[in-house]
Amino acid sequence: MATKLLLTFAICRLIVTVGLTLDPTELLRLGVDGQLSVDPTDLETASLDFGLLTRAEPLAVLHPSSAQDIAQLVKAAYGSNHMFTLSARGHGHSINGQAQTTNGVVIQMSGSKGGRGLASGRKPPQPRVWARERYVDVWGGELWIDVLMSTLEYGLAPKSWTDYLYLSVGGTLSNAGISGQAFNHGPQISNVYELDVVTGKGELLTCSEEQNSELFHAVLGGLGQFGIITRARISLEPAPQRVRWIRVLYSKFSDFTRDQEYLISLPAQPASQKFDYVEGFVIVDQGLINNWRSSFFSPRNPVKISSLGADGGVLYCLEITKNYHESTADATDQLRVVFLLQEVESLLKKLNFIPTSVFTTDLLYVDFLDRVHKAELKLRSKGLWEVPHPWLNLFVPKSKIADFDKGVFKGILGNKTSGPILIYPMNKNKWDHRSSVVTPDEDVFYLVALLRSALDNGEETQSLEYLNNQNRQILRFCDDAGINVKQYLPHYTTQEEWMHHFGNNWDRFYQMKMEFDPRHILATGQQIFTPTF
Ligand code: FAD
Repeated sequence: MATKLLLTFAICRLIVTVGLTLDPTELLRLGVDGQLSVDPTDLETASLDFGLLTRAEPLAVLHPSSAQDIAQLVKAAYGSNHMFTLSARGHGHSINGQAQTTNGVVIQMSGSKGGRGLASGRKPPQPRVWARERYVDVWGGELWIDVLMSTLEYGLAPKSWTDYLYLSVGGTLSNAGISGQAFNHGPQISNVYELDVVTGKGELLTCSEEQNSELFHAVLGGLGQFGIITRARISLEPAPQRVRWIRVLYSKFSDFTRDQEYLISLPAQPASQKFDYVEGFVIVDQGLINNWRSSFFSPRNPVKISSLGADGGVLYCLEITKNYHESTADATDQLRVVFLLQEVESLLKKLNFIPTSVFTTDLLYVDFLDRVHKAELKLRSKGLWEVPHPWLNLFVPKSKIADFDKGVFKGILGNKTSGPILIYPMNKNKWDHRSSVVTPDEDVFYLVALLRSALDNGEETQSLEYLNNQNRQILRFCDDAGINVKQYLPHYTTQEEWMHHFGNNWDRFYQMKMEFDPRHILATGQQIFTPTF
């Protein structure tokens, strides 16, 4: 009874606010009555994201328990005379309101409320592992941490990751999903076999390389513009048990990038002769390495930039790992681990880092993959997690990375960063050019991720305004210096800027939009298209 009352209230709100012409009884017939919510807590959650830079309250929140729930709601929105918009929200870890919407409904794909929102008791499907075929079918709102836990039960794991696992499958596949494995396996979007997608017309379609292939490629990296991913079939490999995690420091940028580029040029080598993960970060702060990924450096043995002869006050840290299986008591097995670790040593010998700067640790594979969550818990305990995050993520072509270093790391940033700065190269041939994601036009390009937190502590260089200005300055510098960067997790507010972002791919992107979401009702928080109400 209470459920029906709440739903009627939600529908009335939709009717009043957007002039929805659907008869409430019609929406009731959709069968989503157990899941549509106007609970203030749900609305508040859906109106915010990790960036904490924008706020937009939806009219209602749907907690779907199946693809059919979503298809019915999208069909209703698409077919009515006065439509409402629909935004899938995974874990809401966008920066600029990409999963928000005002004149419509947020479809909350992740979280424990799936199907339980208003007492229906139904839940989205659990991950299903196909051990022999080496893939897993997962709900679009599944968090990667839960995908990992499910597949580990079969001794398997996905191949390509993000640094942080509390992100949804649909959310990262709508962008690309990258981490230190991308040089070898490609981004997460290169490791998907099949998707179920609810298009902007409310059709539920299965797509893959072979079936509805246009939709399949468009949705991968498609910023939620063509449909809502309800199921993804993700490729798996045997899961390693342990990881040797190594960090080494460089004072010369050219040595650092030469080594990174050398290490990612080895994907064709047998697994034993290459690393499994290649990343890196930039240290511009003087004194202690004081960012949230620094726990690796022992606090009892702080690294002083001044003692290492940093070039222009900046140091570069290469981060690499080697996966392995724990040895048993068996002698051959023990020998295998010894050989593998010798291989690591011989690979290290080919690199040109500061010899005294090797930091090594061994840990469980799962602990390595979940490393950022530990940092999250620490930051949360200090009240430093739920703060504004004016992040800037750029793909920088290899030919211009030295110019970027000079102008940004050694120039614009000064000696304050307000958060980690990641930098690592990837091979373009591991990215499928048919997907929607945009990358620079060179065989190798770098991710540069400025992951800053704004603090309201009276220090000008940590204020949101200062960091936003600095982001604008960096983009202007790239423009002026002819560095053709492409934003990753892009944020623009005009269609002109979006057309420039997509370049030659804009026409195809637009065509796909007209085909799969002709009334522009999906993922309006990206601000690419305006709904045609
Ligand atoms: P949301 O913010 O909920 O949604 C993002 C966009 O995807 C929205 O437009 C939304 O409408 C759309 N969307 C969501 N679900 C679906 C679906 N099922 N179907 C279709 N569209 C959908 N990215 C990396 O690549 N590598 C990293 O290492 C990495 N680390 C991160 C660490 C942190 C702490 C944070 C906050 C972000 C990180 N990201 C990283 C960025 C992250 O991948 C993206 O922001 C991603 O979109 C977040 O997923 P989400 O589930 O929170 O998506």
